[in-house]
Amino acid sequence: MTNPDPLIRVLLPLPLAEPFTYRAGAAAPLQPGDIVEVPIGNRVSLGVVWDGTPEPLPAAKIKAVIRRCDAPPVAPALRRLVDWVAGYTLNPTGAVLKMCLPEPRALIGAPPQRQVLFVGAPVEMRPSAQRDRVLQIAAEQPGLGAGELAEAAAVSPAVVRKLLELGALRAESVPAFRPSAQPDWRAEGRPLSTAQAEAAASLRAAVEARDFSVTLLEGVTGAGKTEVYYEAIAACLAAGRQALVLLPEIALTQQSLDRFEQRFHAPAWAWHSEISEARRAATLRAISRGEAHVVIGARSALFLPYSDLGLIVVDEEHDASYKQEEGVIYNARDMAVVRAKMEGIACVLASATPSLESLHNVARRRYAHAVLPERHGAAALPQIDIVDMRKERLPAQRFLSSTLVAALEETVTAGEQAMLFLNRRGYAPLTLCGACGHRLNCPNCSAWLVEHRRHGRLECHHCGHQQRLPQVCPSCGAEDRFKACGPGVERLAEEAASLFPDARLAVMASDTANTPQQISEMIARMERREIDILVGTQIVAKGHHFPLLTLVGVIDADLGLAGGDPRAAERTHQLLTQVAGRAGRAERPGRVLLQSFNPGHPVIAALARHDSAGFIAAEMAERQRAGMPPFGRLAAIVVSGADQAQVEAAARAMAQAAPRGPGLSVLGPAPAPLHYLRGRFRERLLVKAARDVDVPKVLREWIGKIKLPAAVKRAVDIDPYSFL
Ligand code: ADP
Ligand code: ZN
Repeated sequence: MTNPDPLIRVLLPLPLAEPFTYRAGAAAPLQPGDIVEVPIGNRVSLGVVWDGTPEPLPAAKIKAVIRRCDAPPVAPALRRLVDWVAGYTLNPTGAVLKMCLPEPRALIGAPPQRQVLFVGAPVEMRPSAQRDRVLQIAAEQPGLGAGELAEAAAVSPAVVRKLLELGALRAESVPAFRPSAQPDWRAEGRPLSTAQAEAAASLRAAVEARDFSVTLLEGVTGAGKTEVYYEAIAACLAAGRQALVLLPEIALTQQSLDRFEQRFHAPAWAWHSEISEARRAATLRAISRGEAHVVIGARSALFLPYSDLGLIVVDEEHDASYKQEEGVIYNARDMAVVRAKMEGIACVLASATPSLESLHNVARRRYAHAVLPERHGAAALPQIDIVDMRKERLPAQRFLSSTLVAALEETVTAGEQAMLFLNRRGYAPLTLCGACGHRLNCPNCSAWLVEHRRHGRLECHHCGHQQRLPQVCPSCGAEDRFKACGPGVERLAEEAASLFPDARLAVMASDTANTPQQISEMIARMERREIDILVGTQIVAKGHHFPLLTLVGVIDADLGLAGGDPRAAERTHQLLTQVAGRAGRAERPGRVLLQSFNPGHPVIAALARHDSAGFIAAEMAERQRAGMPPFGRLAAIVVSGADQAQVEAAARAMAQAAPRGPGLSVLGPAPAPLHYLRGRFRERLLVKAARDVDVPKVLREWIGKIKLPAAVKRAVDIDPYSFL
């Protein structure tokens, strides 16, 4: 006989939660995955019936489930993913579930509604031109919202309200976000080149196999990778399954959505932090019910409860923005592969500059490799030249070399477009007192304040602290002696404007263009040729396609090479390759100038020779020698707190209990490069391990042994990308 009131485990989407034990109560029978409402403390929460055996508890302590909700259950593959990610990242399971169900309420109940208006019954009323106009538009365009109708008729909302009251208009409730037309997988894409067709065939086969596989789709910028993975999406849609495309930046989504819609004659669903709450809820619901066939989104789209996922594409897979650095620290590229494995589906990693991790997996034959050898159509690779800044002898606080200025002159005169790239926001990275040399620092961080002249203030790029430029030096009392040192994009734009007063200039950085709309607007201005010189940070490096852009100037090619990041050379190589790839994407040949103080550096020299393969081979050999990823594993532990002595003691205690063993070493503690951040002192420990070491397990045992004071926080970062 089955127990009529069995005990079950329920996982709540809360940051601290592991599954709790409940009685199924009146909701029985319940299956793992069911979404239920349960009492917790004196509140009610939604949760998910979890797998596994409930902990035996005194019967009096066990509460009953309130009800089973009418929502699609959380599928077994997603539950396994949640457990796996929690174990791998050392986070509570509930914190990971929260990423799958960011708005659990959206999954249950009726879809969000909105009121739309139609012409009602004829009624006697005072004639008015405004009312006539409203009724005429309502007849022509039935189903507008009240605001839309008032706007279309150029009347105040009150006019529409009055007509509604009189019955001349009638309202109906409809779902706020209708699943619009579905993408048409039969729609013809562009005719593919032979290489594209081959790559597309292998991706289609991977999707149709309905089995786990990873394919690295590699091809220089503009080679036509997007067209190729669209074929995989078409195959996925033809199989009636959902496809997910991850992008590293929200900035890229609008262009991608537009392009997708052109290709498949219907929109994809967007998912990122900027979409409205109502739309998020509707999207989540559509995803869970299989009504959203294609989702294009940021890394957080990875964990959503798709009802039948058939394909994951990770575009620009090498991009470090896939690493989430707060809360549950994870790399969405890596977790996409894990999800694909759990779901038994195809994963495509696309990049012009693949990560060494992915290339290594290709070499080990874990990933398939589809390569597009050249640019699509006529576009040739740009000519890349190094400007040796040691020979340029620029006056102080000037940043554009004579070589670059001459090239700009030529480009602008020819009616073509140029881009100046500098990966630094603001006006100047350092402000110091001309009298005593005092540097203006953030009060909360060990970091310089960055001047943002546009906004008339200084900002800390780590904690967000803002202040005005003081008049008096806090150290020596000298008045108005502050000097801006070094360039940011604003200052570069100023210099370019003084040299080219007639050129139309624009600055694009994450603080001047930070919504998808602003970014699309900037891209549209560029496409309409309303900009001659675009000055930007890495936000301009990615994905955009500007046919008339023929010159790219990299102001400080050495910028990313300093510091203790083991991936510094790889990243600089990727970023500069991407930036260089912006030049000459259409018929016109492109030119790239790299300003460098270190032109002999292997990264810079390899770029100029277009020798990615050579650079990668050398970098792989170096990583292997040093036991660094992808040949070894890393994990970072950051211990932080407001009391420096307490933090140092805690870090030392961690180090003393550090695990030992073959293929395992623990480095540190050492003060983090950003030693003081947001008012907290930070100490780092780094675990270095051979590939066959189960690092999360080692860490769990280690951390379990040491109880830290409540005021000291410990953050675990498996496979760290940030070494600050
Ligand atoms: P990638 O994703 O590799 O950077 P894209 O897919 O964006 O490259 O292609 C670069 C440009 O070439 C785009 O404008 C795209 O529309 C065009 N293109 C790519 N493949 C084809 C094709 N087979 N026929 C015509 N145009 C193509
Ligand atoms: Zn700060």
